[in-house]
Amino acid sequence: MSEQKQNGALPFAFLKGKIVPIEEANVSIMTNGLQYGNGIFGGIRGYLEKTKSSNNTQTKINIFRISDHYDRFLKSLRILNQTISYTKEQLVKITLELARRNKPTVDCYFRPFAYASHLGFSPDLLHAKFDFALYMVSMGEYLPVSAGLKLMISSWTRISDRSIPARAKICGAYVNSSLAKAEAVSSGFDDAMMLSEDGHISEGSAANFFMVRHGVLVTSPKHSDILEGVTRRSVLKIAKDLGIPTEEREIDRTESYIADEAFLCGTGVQVAWIKEIDGRKLGDGKIGPITEKLQKIFFSIVRGQSEKYHHWLTRID
Ligand code: PMP
Repeated sequence: MSEQKQNGALPFAFLKGKIVPIEEANVSIMTNGLQYGNGIFGGIRGYLEKTKSSNNTQTKINIFRISDHYDRFLKSLRILNQTISYTKEQLVKITLELARRNKPTVDCYFRPFAYASHLGFSPDLLHAKFDFALYMVSMGEYLPVSAGLKLMISSWTRISDRSIPARAKICGAYVNSSLAKAEAVSSGFDDAMMLSEDGHISEGSAANFFMVRHGVLVTSPKHSDILEGVTRRSVLKIAKDLGIPTEEREIDRTESYIADEAFLCGTGVQVAWIKEIDGRKLGDGKIGPITEKLQKIFFSIVRGQSEKYHHWLTRID
């Protein structure tokens, strides 16, 4: 089995304008994006839905908020002042085509990226040429959603809008996440949360942070150097629809210690509740009622069981 397939890759990828076997989806070691992290990426989940008819079981894939993901993808490129030769509609079409070709039989994850594909050893965005590529992997839980996460506040500071903008999903920026994640995992935690330069809770290494205080659902604001998560936006909308009061405001490190409930959310993470931060148990150490409700609704939506939010899904037969 190829190394790609061992890592969960589905058989086909999209590179340089066409669908090719994953083993052939390779680039030169001189690729500019590889040297300097000059690229942006996305992450989109496809959830398997099984429907039973009298004599057989059919599977469909529901892609969660594909258009919103590509919206952010193109905005990340705009922040770098780069373009690719595809519109959002074309990107969606390519993604659906690849999904049909790969025919996933398990939950999957799409990894689109746009990278400086020219060969050159200068960190020069001005003369860069960006290409689009896409591959798919099978994906279950990225972090446990029901065990309760143990998080640490990282000693690494979140990159600021004045250095590498976190609101763009920039490849090179993820070194910041990698350092924080490695520190957390090697210290016995599940993941890290980072503080912004001004000392407020920003986000996890690959997820947004939410907490509940006195019945109010609170999340760090867009100016706390977060990636503007599609899942974050979805959770805020679901909460508002349920009549749960919400606030987007700065959160101190120690305020997170005394939260009644907390969770991380993101495409990979989904909705995963937090049991401890820096060794302080949150609430009574169990999943809280608001988190539990939001988590339950989130999973029913992505599994195609919620009529109300059906417009968030793109179904592939
Ligand atoms: N923050 C960071 C740093 C991330 O990498 C992610 C995952 N894309 C998120 C937040 C969550 O964003 P989304 O819900 O759009 O996946």
